[in-house]
Amino acid sequence: MRKTFQAHCPRCDGERACEIHGALAVSWDWSDGRNSVNGQNDHKLARCCGCKEVFYHKSSWDSEDWEGAYHPVTGEEIITFPAKTLTYPAPEKKSQKPDWVWGISKIDPQLHSILDETYQAYEVGSFILASVGLRTAFDRATELLKIDPGLNLEEKVQELRDNGFIGETEAMTLGVVANAGSAAAHRAWSPNQQEFQTLLTTLEQFLHRTIVSGKSALNIATKIPARPPRPKKPKTPKTPPP
Ligand SMILES: [Zn+2]
Repeated sequence: MRKTFQAHCPRCDGERACEIHGALAVSWDWSDGRNSVNGQNDHKLARCCGCKEVFYHKSSWDSEDWEGAYHPVTGEEIITFPAKTLTYPAPEKKSQKPDWVWGISKIDPQLHSILDETYQAYEVGSFILASVGLRTAFDRATELLKIDPGLNLEEKVQELRDNGFIGETEAMTLGVVANAGSAAAHRAWSPNQQEFQTLLTTLEQFLHRTIVSGKSALNIATKIPARPPRPKKPKTPKTPPP
């Protein structure tokens, strides 16, 4: 068992028990002959026991940064040096990103990057960029589902329907998501926050069902043989059997 310590995990953003995978304590002091300052930096490579994120943790104090208090009973002066902590990465700002989106990085790093940037744009209120992100994520997801990237939007939605990835209603709502992305990209159309949230929820449901929990569907898609070219329509209508 590795030694653990309590630290603020930058990913799940809370006080957690964290494994110590490496530690180095470096104390320092400085003096000009009359005055001196000293302190210590405790470096750790840590891994959160909750979410398994690996991060760097530094706790430091120095003699210039102190707090004085008096003992409540004896009245004796007590000097403490509060520790400052720093982690890399720094704790993320409260994210709109659902936790399962993390898992997409293992399935397709490119889709994860697109989504990551989309949520970042959303969180700072850049709805035009975020809408373009939704459309880009939709295109990437359809590519993962083996839909021909050369198809236009309507054809992609149609293919998704024909291949059983989505139903009638979802075909309509996803069409809106993709259209909104095009309108944002080509006509600088911007949804408001509420509209964007609706589009985002639609795409999230689609991604979660087809890419995350539908990994089996993905596996199936790779096994489906390519469509044979369509036979040319006969020039004369077939005569019905007698
Ligand atoms: Zn964590």
